[in-house]
Amino acid sequence: SSLTKHYPVPKQRLLEKQQVVRAVDGVSFQINEGEIFGLVGESGCGKSTTGQLLVQLVKQTGGDLIYQGRTLSGLSRGELKSLRRDIQIVFQDPYSSLNPKKKIGWILEEPLIIHKMGDKQTRRKIVSETLEQVGLDPGYVNRFPHELSGGQKQRVGIAAALVLTPKFIVIDEAVSALDVSVQSQILNLLKDLQQKRGLTYLFISHDLNVVEYISDRVGVMYLGKMVEIFTAGEPGIEPLHPYTRALFSSIPDAERKKERVTLQGEVPSPIHPPGGCAFHPRCPLAMDKCRVTAPELKRVGQGHEVSCHLYEEANHT
Ligand code: SF4
Ligand code: MG
Repeated sequence: SSLTKHYPVPKQRLLEKQQVVRAVDGVSFQINEGEIFGLVGESGCGKSTTGQLLVQLVKQTGGDLIYQGRTLSGLSRGELKSLRRDIQIVFQDPYSSLNPKKKIGWILEEPLIIHKMGDKQTRRKIVSETLEQVGLDPGYVNRFPHELSGGQKQRVGIAAALVLTPKFIVIDEAVSALDVSVQSQILNLLKDLQQKRGLTYLFISHDLNVVEYISDRVGVMYLGKMVEIFTAGEPGIEPLHPYTRALFSSIPDAERKKERVTLQGEVPSPIHPPGGCAFHPRCPLAMDKCRVTAPELKRVGQGHEVSCHLYEEANHT
């Protein structure tokens, strides 16, 4: 159902009572088993919060999550624990997400100990096989994070998510801090692992190019709302939402049939999101209606949903 995460604003910044940051504001979407669902948007649009909600690092203030047909809020503590094994996250920053004082071997073995998986020998075997699967020599167990390059650290971050043999992984800006050549190596590794292990990903990035490359479907977020969902790499499907088109327009040489849309101004504060369509102050195509009425996410075609008044009268197929 419709997911919401409102953060209370820290007290000293309160201007009036009951202010909240609408980090994720009534987002509702479904990720199919075995697919890579990409989530894209500018920083602060709520995509990381959405990812953290899915791994339950933060609790939603409204709505619920349904995993394999079951609502998370209805699960017992024991069921939640096994779910925590099923759903893992790879973080943005391999430099700070790995404990600098621990050897790689320990970083990878610790989750197995916490989840009481196997004896020492079995755990070591899992660790060294996982290292090989992410393209690192098993001898890396004796190294410390600072001895590794950025790409190697992110491989360890991926290995740490994999040791518990999860089914679903949230990957939050995992390649953003890396050089372009290393980026593509890690993207290909992620794609490879997804296929070999039959994994499902929520792949989060501000970079639409990267998201479109790796994903089966793409969700575009703006100010805590999902504004468009489309199937990636389908020649017939052109992104329609003016915000998505602006994101594509900022990619050099993007061969898009639609005319360029240029973003105006800054992302408004999620404390006081604009009324009507939250994108209207920056939208070059805004109409009177857009300032008053918020559009809803509506199906405009096969595998394609858009939240924009321009497409409400469109022919539904
Ligand atoms: Fe622009 Fe209006 Fe569509 Fe919002 S609803 S994206 S303001 S045209
Ligand atoms: Mg983020």
